Amino acid sequence: SNRGQRRNGGDEANEFSPGLLDLHAFDTELIPEMPAPAMVDAPVYRSSRGRSFDDSEPYYGVSKPSSRARGVPENNTLKPFIPDKEKASNVAKIKVVVRKRPLNKKEMAKNEEDIVTIESQSNFLTVHETKFKVDLTEYVEKHEFVFDAVLSEEVSNDEVYSETVEPIVPIIFQRTKATCFAYGQTGSGKTFTMKPLPLKASRDILTLMHRNYRNQGFQLFFSFFEIYGGKLYDLLNDRKKLCMREDGSKQVCIVGLQEYKVSDVETIKELIERGNATRSTGTTGANEESSRSHAILQLAVKRSADGSETKPAKVVGKLSFIDLAGSERGADTTDNDKQTRMEGAEINKSLLALKECIRALDNDQGHIPFRGSKLTEVLRDSFVGNSRTVMISCISPNAGSCEHTLNTLRYADRVKSLSKGNKKDT
Ligand code: ADP
Ligand code: MG
Repeated sequence: SNRGQRRNGGDEANEFSPGLLDLHAFDTELIPEMPAPAMVDAPVYRSSRGRSFDDSEPYYGVSKPSSRARGVPENNTLKPFIPDKEKASNVAKIKVVVRKRPLNKKEMAKNEEDIVTIESQSNFLTVHETKFKVDLTEYVEKHEFVFDAVLSEEVSNDEVYSETVEPIVPIIFQRTKATCFAYGQTGSGKTFTMKPLPLKASRDILTLMHRNYRNQGFQLFFSFFEIYGGKLYDLLNDRKKLCMREDGSKQVCIVGLQEYKVSDVETIKELIERGNATRSTGTTGANEESSRSHAILQLAVKRSADGSETKPAKVVGKLSFIDLAGSERGADTTDNDKQTRMEGAEINKSLLALKECIRALDNDQGHIPFRGSKLTEVLRDSFVGNSRTVMISCISPNAGSCEHTLNTLRYADRVKSLSKGNKKDT
């Protein structure tokens, strides 16, 4: 059987080089040093589940001046910002989560078997694959996998948020680029899983901005685009075709992409709905076409060097949500239709490149193979410096999806397993 690699204790995933949060260790080319937000009032952060963090000590930053903080104007009233090492390092660099959806009506009507078992409160799952011997007698092969978290069909979208995105929201104020991907075959629940996350995250980001970082000049920007057949389209500007450019400091710039400055949840909700409605629908129906595109929604926290609104704001941190093309589409390379073949090849290339980039990230490899595909080129700035990646692998439970499910779990396993130093073949 194909047993996923169990991560020893799981703690190692949470460790990264102690110097990483040192101000000097940041990619200062991307983000100039800035005076820090001072704490206001009692720093209590309540999550969507109503849980509160330790109220007795500051949760974000410390308002103690630091000799390490350079470039702070003499009579600046803002105090230098020292990222809270402990809290940020509690967030694993890469987290791989699996979510299983329930059997749907059609599958139930066909009496399809649910072949994925998840023991409650565990982080492993078993796929029961039916196979046939040469004499055609049936037998079941069990495949076990272990991930950072395994979410069963009973897990709600709120719980998915708490498990995946909620922990990374605070650290985007600490110069972190975080990315959350949904990977899986068409129909496995990627869009269902991803759709609610940006709104919940925006809510938490705005809470932090208005409460813990009040009057510190942070601004939130929203953009939403898709990659279809290797080309970029703005989902908030009538699918306007966009192009990508790299500036002198290797910052990725998507020319013409509409970025909306947002300050309330209602506006964000509208933008999300508008973008979703604009996703490729083609003639064959929404799911068919959207399964061939990657949708990328970005929330960028910006701030000008002095925290004022008059100077141009620069990106402090970013949170990207990516609803990837259906993983099975990468195999459309022998289709009769040339267009479909080309799209399939591009999807295949992007999913392979994505895996390579995440692996390179986790190994702290100097060279990150962005150039493999449009998707990874666009995400370039999320793979350098201080970054976090959450991958949610979505799986269908039915016997008919067994092969796709195993492929998805193997992909997820490979994204994960190299970080343990157990190098496996691709
Ligand atoms: P994908 O984006 O991967 O193609 P969808 O998110 O569109 O898949 O999901 C396919 C169908 O399954 C949709 O009708 C969706 O509402 C339903 N679905 C997916 N995940 C769940 C879930 N966890 N619970 C209930 N229904 C789900
Ligand atoms: Mg979808």
